[in-house]
Amino acid sequence: GKGAAMVTAVAYRLAEQSRQIDQILSEFRLTTEQLLEVKKRMRTEIQNGLSKSTQDSATVKMLPTFVESTPDGSENGDFLALDLGGTNFRVLMVKIRSGKKRTVEMHNKIYAIPLEVMQGTGEELFDHIVQCISDFLDYMGMKNARLPLGFTFSFPCRQTKLDAGILVTWTKGFKATDCEGEDVVGLLREAIKRREEFEMDVVAIVNDTVGTMMTCAYEEPTCEVGLIAGTGSNACYMEEMRNIEMMEGDEGRMCVNMEWGAFGDNGCLDDIRTEYDRSVDDFSLNPGKQRYEKMCSGMYLGEIVRNILIDMTKKGFLFRGQISETLKTRGIFETKFLSQIESDRLALLQVRSILQRLGLDITCDDSIIVKEVCGTVSRRAAQLCGAGMAAVVDKIRENRGLDHLDITVGVDGTLYKLHPHFSRIMQQTVDELAPKCNVNFLLSEDGSGKGAALITAVGCRLRKELNS
Ligand code: BGC
Ligand code: MG
Repeated sequence: GKGAAMVTAVAYRLAEQSRQIDQILSEFRLTTEQLLEVKKRMRTEIQNGLSKSTQDSATVKMLPTFVESTPDGSENGDFLALDLGGTNFRVLMVKIRSGKKRTVEMHNKIYAIPLEVMQGTGEELFDHIVQCISDFLDYMGMKNARLPLGFTFSFPCRQTKLDAGILVTWTKGFKATDCEGEDVVGLLREAIKRREEFEMDVVAIVNDTVGTMMTCAYEEPTCEVGLIAGTGSNACYMEEMRNIEMMEGDEGRMCVNMEWGAFGDNGCLDDIRTEYDRSVDDFSLNPGKQRYEKMCSGMYLGEIVRNILIDMTKKGFLFRGQISETLKTRGIFETKFLSQIESDRLALLQVRSILQRLGLDITCDDSIIVKEVCGTVSRRAAQLCGAGMAAVVDKIRENRGLDHLDITVGVDGTLYKLHPHFSRIMQQTVDELAPKCNVNFLLSEDGSGKGAALITAVGCRLRKELNS
C-alpha cells in the first residue's frame, strides 16, 4: 500500500544520502600508495631546500639553526625564555643545574596576546612582549638580574647566527606589519631599549621544533628530530653539514628547521587537496601559503570540518538543511573540541551536547555524521604528518648509510597531546611507510621553553670561549 511505498522512499533517500556523504569523505581517505607518493614528494622538496641551485625557489626551506649538537648535560645557569607562536604566549624562568644530579626548574606565566596586537603593527607587538617580560620580572622579583634570554619564535626565520633571524613570513594567526624581512632579535632588543626599564641579553632565537628536540635530547640522546603537531605543523632534524649546501664546512651536523608547513605551496599536493582545503586556504590570513600545514595542524582542522559541514547542510544532509550563524563562524571548532568529539569514551548524547553548547541545533543522527567527519579529517592529518616524518627518518638513515635506524622524535603540540587518535595513527603511518626505521615518538613536555634555555646555555658557553 501507500505506507509501504513511503517507507521504501524514505529508506531509499537515506541510503542515497549516506552514499553521498561517504563520497564527500572518500576524498579524504588516502591509500597507502598515495601516502607513499606524499613521502616521495617530501623527499624531493627536502633535497630542493638543501641544494644550492634550487634553494631560492624551494618551498620547504630547510633553514640552518646554528645548533650543532644536542645537549650533553654540562649546560648550567639561570635563563629567561620567551615562547611566542603556539597556543599560548609564555614567559619562563629556567634554572638548569649540571653535575651528577642534573635538574631543570621552571617557572612560567601565560600572557594573552589580543588579536589586534597579533595583527597590528610590529612595534605594538614587540612593545606588548616587552611589557609581559616586565610584568614577569616583577612577579619573580628580579628586575635587575640581566639574565641571558632565549627567544622561542615559532615562525620561519633565516638565521645567520644563533642570535639573529630574519622573519621570512608570518604564519598561523599572526600578521603584524613591518616584521617580515626584519631581524626579530633586533626588533626585540629595540623594544627593550624603548622601554628603558631593564636590560636583557638576547642570546638565541629558537624555532619551537628545535627547542622540542633539544629538551627531549637532554633526557634521551637518540633524539635527533623535533616535531610540532599543534596550532601549526613543522619538523627539524640533525642534518649532515656536507648536505647543507648554503653552509660552509663539511664536518659534523647542524639542526635544520625544515619549515615543512609550506610543503605543497608549489602545487605538488594539488591532486590530494579537496575543495574544502582550497576554501580554508582561500579564507586564511595567508592564502596559497602553508598548504601542508593547513591539512595537518590544529589551527585548520576544525575549519576543514566546518567547511564540509556547511556543504553537507547545503545538500540537506545535516541540520535540517539550515545553515546557522554558528556554523558560519570561523574558528568555532578548536582542537579541544575535535578531541572531545572524537573521544571513544563519549556517548553520542554527550557528543550532541558538546555541539549544542557550541550553539548548534543538532539531532542525534546529525551527531553521528559530525563525528565521522571529524574522524576522517583528523585521520588524514595524522597520516600526512606521518608520511612527512617517514621521509625525514629515511633520509637520516640513508645519510648514515644504515640498513636500519633506531631514532627518537621529540614531539610537542596540542594536537599530539590532546587528540585521542592522532599520535597512534601517525605512528602506524610512519611504521608502514618507513619500515627500515624504528621511530620512537617521545612527548617533550614544555619542550619549546626549556629547549630555548638549553640552547641559550650553550650559546653563553660558546660566547665565553670566544671571548677568552
Ligand atoms: C611555523 C613553524 C613552526 C610551526 C609550529 C609553523 O606555522 O612556520 O616555524 O615551527 O608552525 O609552531
Ligand atoms: Mg608551542
